[in-house]
Amino acid sequence: MSQVDLHLHSTASDGKYSPEALVRMAAELGLKYISLTDHDSVAGVPAALGAARAFPELTFIPGVEISTDVPEGEVHVLGYFIDFASPEFGSSLERSRNSRQGRAQGMVSKLGELGINIDWARVQELAGDGAIGRPHIARAMLEKGYISKFEEAFEKYIGHGGPAYVERDKMAPAEAVALILSARGLPVLAHPFTVSGPEKLVQELKSTGLIGLEAYYKDAPREDIDAMLRLAERHGLIATGGSDYHGFGENNEVRPGGVEVPLKAAESLIALARERSKK
Ligand code: AMP
Ligand code: FE
Ligand code: FE
Ligand code: ZN
Repeated sequence: MSQVDLHLHSTASDGKYSPEALVRMAAELGLKYISLTDHDSVAGVPAALGAARAFPELTFIPGVEISTDVPEGEVHVLGYFIDFASPEFGSSLERSRNSRQGRAQGMVSKLGELGINIDWARVQELAGDGAIGRPHIARAMLEKGYISKFEEAFEKYIGHGGPAYVERDKMAPAEAVALILSARGLPVLAHPFTVSGPEKLVQELKSTGLIGLEAYYKDAPREDIDAMLRLAERHGLIATGGSDYHGFGENNEVRPGGVEVPLKAAESLIALARERSKK
């Protein structure tokens, strides 16, 4: 059980729990530092900050997780301490969320062509006010009995390159880094385990302002974590981490604080944010 979890999802994207409920859960579990990192959205941040006021021992860090693409697959970039009230940042994220709508609709119609008939209205309903994504489609498929477990949707249909997969409006990882920096945030490469050729990407992004690497991550084997810690060390990056908790009980889910992340991860981020805010 760790006291740090810098990767959590709420109803503002594809998580089960509201920002307030997540904060309460984290406080009850005895966490000291958490961040809310919804996909392409900071809509949950104000509510989480408000809820965190009731728990003085808990420090809440505003965050976001931006989806980007590379030819080999997807890359997610986390942003911490972003100015979540920035109108420019807000409209960039809004464009991404709008493109999520069209993309999700495209996947639903491709599924239809494959004989999998789920209602677009139901998918929208499952997403609610949150940034719509493939997990909402997967849940609609599950409800209708087209799949027997959540992951099957990705394995058979809507995983990257699958028969019902639709690409998003492309944003490059370096663009996400720039976007986060423009909102005075700290860009961190998310779950580098899922990136092919992480060293090259890290090198490239470091030169454009990347400051950290998510080396501690749910169900990552010790040797992979160690390799990422060495990679972070080689490039002078802060090693961060978190559970990527969504709350729906996926196979590999761990609860908030379930990944061993050292206090130093959060403290280093906070120190860097302080240093930058003085400039
Ligand atoms: P999207 O935001 O539409 O690109 O969907 C990506 C989200 O889908 C991730 O953040 C995860 O929550 C979920 N996801 C992606 N791949 C899988 C998988 N193989 N099994 C379960 N969930 C997945
Ligand atoms: Fe997600
Ligand atoms: Fe991610
Ligand atoms: Zn995530």
